[in-house]
Amino acid sequence: MGCEGNIARALSVDPDGSVLGVDWSKIETVLLDMDGTLLDLRFDTEFWTRTLPAHYADEQGISVADASAYLDPIHRREHGHLNWYCLDFWSETVGFDVAALKREHRASISWRPEAVNFLRRLQASHCRVVLVTNAHPETLAIKLEQLALADWMDEIHSSHSFKAPKEYQAFWEGLQRVSPFDPQQTLFIDDSESVLGSAAQYGISHLVTLRQPDSGQPPRTRTGYPAILHFSELFQGLPADG
Ligand SMILES: [Mg+2]
Repeated sequence: MGCEGNIARALSVDPDGSVLGVDWSKIETVLLDMDGTLLDLRFDTEFWTRTLPAHYADEQGISVADASAYLDPIHRREHGHLNWYCLDFWSETVGFDVAALKREHRASISWRPEAVNFLRRLQASHCRVVLVTNAHPETLAIKLEQLALADWMDEIHSSHSFKAPKEYQAFWEGLQRVSPFDPQQTLFIDDSESVLGSAAQYGISHLVTLRQPDSGQPPRTRTGYPAILHFSELFQGLPADG
């Protein structure tokens, strides 16, 4: 950006990369990821690594190991691209309705700790709150049916409407067109470091990642961006009730 020194820094961070606090007066827009940020990634991990291969194995009359041997290389090839998030792509790949299978398991969709309390405080604040997700519109619909996520959002955007995931600059350019934001007064929270790298390249000044996106995995001790374990670490300076 070449003018780093002029950017009003809103995050204070300790030497191990943990966020100590946010100067909320320097933030006007908060962009929030959904899976692994507001919601526990455990649902998605379980679905893609266990539920889907098991169902595919059943349908094909093969072992789960053979199902995974077929599916894993496709996961690796498509990771970080729009297909990876696209239920239509996966339905075509496996030959059954992946959205319907996801819907069957929707009771396991859950919030991350303190996420609702964070959203309540944001809603009571001066900040505009925008959900930005790579989730396919069908996945998004299932999650919005299950949890009252939409109640807390000023806007919701799926990268599928920009035909580019958050890993691509075209996503940020598309978002800027439909929902203008000042990158220097924007805080973006996302558990994916490649997504945060793309946001940094676009010029978003304040980036935060999560130490434990998936409650079934241990917390990450090293992260490439300032990190929080729980949203309560960001509460100071936000209104207490909304
Ligand atoms: Mg995520």
